[in-house]
Amino acid sequence: MLNLLNLNTIRNLVKDKTLIAVTKYVGDNEIKALLAEGIYNLGENRANIFLEKVQKYQNLGIHWHFIGHLQSNKVKSMINHVDVLHSLDRISLAKEIQKHREEVLPCFIEVNISGEPSKHGLKPENVKTFYNKLIDYDKIQVIGFMGMAKHTGDALLIKQNFEILVKLKSEFDALLSMEHKLSMGMSNDYKIALEMGSTHLRIGSILFEEET
Ligand SMILES: *Cc1c(COP(=O)(O)O)cnc(C)c1O
Repeated sequence: MLNLLNLNTIRNLVKDKTLIAVTKYVGDNEIKALLAEGIYNLGENRANIFLEKVQKYQNLGIHWHFIGHLQSNKVKSMINHVDVLHSLDRISLAKEIQKHREEVLPCFIEVNISGEPSKHGLKPENVKTFYNKLIDYDKIQVIGFMGMAKHTGDALLIKQNFEILVKLKSEFDALLSMEHKLSMGMSNDYKIALEMGSTHLRIGSILFEEET
């Protein structure tokens, strides 16, 4: 069930930033409720389920964000349905996108900001080389950086993680004379992410938690 109280609290905080409702845990009822509330930015993290949902909810004006790790062998079947990709993290993926994508795809470069080996994303020190190589791929338009902070209650640690992304943004804003966007903040840490300049919040579980 959609938790309207939490949705409205988040909306008031997020204001003019982009709120992406992550629908990976939920189905029909919740998606319909989100659309009825005017939430059209939806996020999914698994290629197969993404495709199922895209096909099920056609022509409704949904703006689809793919936020999870994307295997190269899934690209062909789904990439032309993606509106924004949040998880560009390797050249082999860029190559596959270049091959199959029809229009230019807005992408976030995913950076591993928590330092956890289990997490996807580039090491911060490798972002520059990677970004440079992307110049050869005209189907890819880098719009900013995406990262996931460690899942912890330690606000200071979360801030330190997000700070890495904020630094990359200011470095590349200056280098390329453009305003990069920041995809950061989930249920656990969206308030901190907002304080630190996030432009795209990817929020799931808290939107669907039972009212207490
Ligand atoms: C699931 C997921 C989210 C949302 O996480 P919640 O903690 O449920 O808000 C955000 N980003 C990514 C990449 C995810 O996989």
